[in-house]
Amino acid sequence: MLLVGTPLAHQLHIIMRKLIYRFSPGKGEGRAEWKELLGGKGANLAEMANLGIPVPPGFTITTEACVDYLRQLAIPEGLFAGVRESIGWLESKTHKGFGSTENPLLVSVRSGARSSMPGMMDTVLNLGLNDRTVAALAAHSQSERFALDAYRRLLSMFADVVLGVERSIFDAPLDEARRTVARKRDLSIPSNDDALARLIPDTLLGAAELRAVVESYKDIIRAHAHQEFPADPYEQLEATIAAVFRSWNNPRAKLYRTMNGIPDDWGTAVNVQAMVFGNLGDTSATGVAFTRDPSSGERRFFGEWLPNAQGEDVVAGIRTPRPLARHPGDEGLSLEESMPENYAQLFAIQGKLEQRFRDMQDLEFTIEAGKLYLLQTRNGKRSARASVRIAVDMVAEGLLNEDEAILRVDPDRLQELLFPTIDPASSAVPLARGIGASPGAVTGRVVFSAEDAQVEAGKHEAVILVRAETSPEDLHGMKAAKGILTARGGATSHAAVVARGMGRPCVSGCSALQVDQVARSMTIYDADGAIIETIAQGATITIDGSTGNVYRGTVATVPADLGNEMGTLLKWTDRVRRLRVRANADTPAQAEKALAFGAEGIGLCRTEHMFFDAERIRAVREMILARDVVSRKRALDQLLPFQRTDFTAIFRVMQDHPVTIRLLDPPLHEFLPKEPEQIAELATALGMSVDDVERRIRELYEFNPMLGHRGVRLGVTFPDISEMQVRAILEAACSVQKEGMHVHPEIMIPLAFSAAELRVMRKIVDRIAHETFERLGCVVKFEFGTMIELPRAALLADQLAVEAEFFSFGTNDLTQTTLGLSRDDAGSFLPAYVEQHLLAEDPFVTLDTEGVGELLRIAVEKGRVARSEISLGVCGEHGGDPRSIEFFERLGLNYVSCSPFRVPVARVAAAQAALRRTKRYWR
Ligand code: PEP
Ligand code: MG
Repeated sequence: MLLVGTPLAHQLHIIMRKLIYRFSPGKGEGRAEWKELLGGKGANLAEMANLGIPVPPGFTITTEACVDYLRQLAIPEGLFAGVRESIGWLESKTHKGFGSTENPLLVSVRSGARSSMPGMMDTVLNLGLNDRTVAALAAHSQSERFALDAYRRLLSMFADVVLGVERSIFDAPLDEARRTVARKRDLSIPSNDDALARLIPDTLLGAAELRAVVESYKDIIRAHAHQEFPADPYEQLEATIAAVFRSWNNPRAKLYRTMNGIPDDWGTAVNVQAMVFGNLGDTSATGVAFTRDPSSGERRFFGEWLPNAQGEDVVAGIRTPRPLARHPGDEGLSLEESMPENYAQLFAIQGKLEQRFRDMQDLEFTIEAGKLYLLQTRNGKRSARASVRIAVDMVAEGLLNEDEAILRVDPDRLQELLFPTIDPASSAVPLARGIGASPGAVTGRVVFSAEDAQVEAGKHEAVILVRAETSPEDLHGMKAAKGILTARGGATSHAAVVARGMGRPCVSGCSALQVDQVARSMTIYDADGAIIETIAQGATITIDGSTGNVYRGTVATVPADLGNEMGTLLKWTDRVRRLRVRANADTPAQAEKALAFGAEGIGLCRTEHMFFDAERIRAVREMILARDVVSRKRALDQLLPFQRTDFTAIFRVMQDHPVTIRLLDPPLHEFLPKEPEQIAELATALGMSVDDVERRIRELYEFNPMLGHRGVRLGVTFPDISEMQVRAILEAACSVQKEGMHVHPEIMIPLAFSAAELRVMRKIVDRIAHETFERLGCVVKFEFGTMIELPRAALLADQLAVEAEFFSFGTNDLTQTTLGLSRDDAGSFLPAYVEQHLLAEDPFVTLDTEGVGELLRIAVEKGRVARSEISLGVCGEHGGDPRSIEFFERLGLNYVSCSPFRVPVARVAAAQAALRRTKRYWR
């Protein structure tokens, strides 16, 4: 078939394109590296098959097929014919028949995107069952209840995924079946559905009850989807494949992609695989495993399993999963104890997979009648702490080199390591204990729904989202919350996996807790079932995601400790990176923190932050309201010792390192009071009338303060303010130098747009320096430079560089002035711009490299032409953003400067950027 108007080469690609790749133990048509085409799950299944690992045979439909389907809303030409052929191949591999009434082949259909999106897209299991094949399955498995259970699961999944019938509608018949069993056993029936499910788990439902459930499910489909459940296995299969393609665009998948920066045009692969069953009796089981502990990173094979169960039972949390191998504190018989041979085989496989993938793996397995199958392997999600430990350990084990280890860590997430933990000296007694699923201790007010979490967080409340268990629908609430607490689910539950991914502290599986969603409260029981306490929405609790402890009220925390592995990794980054990392610090305490995190200087000391202290603000206000030079001088004389004390302390802390001090920047009215009582108080203190103070405040009012009387313009119009600041800086520098320490002050002028402004300021600085050095009998070497915050300054950088010995790019203001976007008001429309892809991301977070970046490029080039040894840095927020740092590295800047807490992030990001620049590691 030739398509009119389509280039021939493209047509050939369409015709020749292979849309289906098969795999069975010993042979996979793909490789682990083919994730783009086969998705993560499909590529790894092919790889496992190639390694001879027992995977149920199956085939993968490519992401290209999905992208085509979503683009043209029609199944790609030839796809279903290929599916039928592959089902034929699967029949021969399994010796079963699709739709056979003797030995029916059942298949699963699962999504599998290029990068893992856990639980975001759809899955249907047990396809191939109908009223006739279910009888055959019953006969073949010698268990009618097993066959009916598989059938009812298919009916509800198919109805939900393919026909769009609300899943919760299927709960009622199942609960009715549970009640029937409870009545038969003379048990009292709990009114709470969760309690009922715990009392009568699925395994207790007999064939008679399940038959009734199946009939009810078919009725639900008839009533809600206005059609019969399709008996034809191929019709089931084809409709499911299309639905899984479509699930790429369901709202939660879209939200997940936005949050994780996954492009919308990747599409998902679809994996069709022969079913294996972990619920075929006592020699069957299912479980999930990690090759290392995903929370701590410790090298121990770790996971959970359930005998006689399906995969979803392990994560659903109705039954308490058991440990794979016994560790202190674990409950229930381990897999190692129950099925030693299967455990030994699984243990050997996990070792093989780690060696092949050179990363921690997250496995799913099923044991069907004594035979082990691996259903999936993928690089496991892990806490930030675990990611560092695993990377560093793998270097020691010879699996990775140091450069690779650096590239394994997501710098953005390192801040999680800086989360506080519960103060060991605290005597707080936990109310309850669950599983420490994602580290960090947080305090917040309790909410019981994702919606409430969002609403309360919007009011700047720290909230902890408490749920019986979470599901992908709760994603927005989990994002809004500071921490997550669930009553059910183990270390591999949805809550645990998602919270770790998001870097939210999480305690999961806190079984002493009963959540009453309707009453918006939770009750905590003791071991004997007596109520300890009921906690209502809005009450404050503290959770510790490292130990699993839950406390009432606020519990003292201590700042985080980076840990030895982090220290090792950071040392490696220092060897690799070219960019220096400084910190933005305004106080001696911040300077100390910055040094502790490895800052190599202060790139921005915002002097105005020193003015807000209660005893200083009076003098600042007096200075601003002064009617003449004499009274302003009196106020400045009061301020000078304060500033000098601060600078002295900062120089002492920073010693050999450079300290860039910016002269006063904000518009003066920012320092004046707004409330009438404060205005009256100020008037009394200054001996002025309230009217006079109000008039002066009115005079200082500006329509566009950010473009108004601020920055260097203050120095030009009130030179005595700059004089006082320069004097304070240099007097402090002299006194610290006299103490025998080195000082490297850098005096920085904000918001300049011309060399002429710098000349005015340089004159002031030189005059004060001369006079101060003479008076104190000391000379301190210092540098004079400017911020580049305005497009004109960037465009005329060669002129500015004649005056300035250094440039520091103030990318916050430069973004604001280049895009004409107000830093303070963009919140109301910027999210819409990002959502509609008008901007790739928030330009105040990640540098707009195309626009603002181009100005930086011009300024760097011109600046270096005028002054070859000019020092170039960035001190806007972008200085701590990994993607922006990658750009700064390519631009050849000398340093980045960021908040102290982001210094470790910047060190790792700078090292990664340097490694990626050398083509070997280019992404
Ligand atoms: C900037 O504009 O990037 C900057 C660092 O200055 P501030 O954020 O204080 O305006
Ligand atoms: Mg600025």
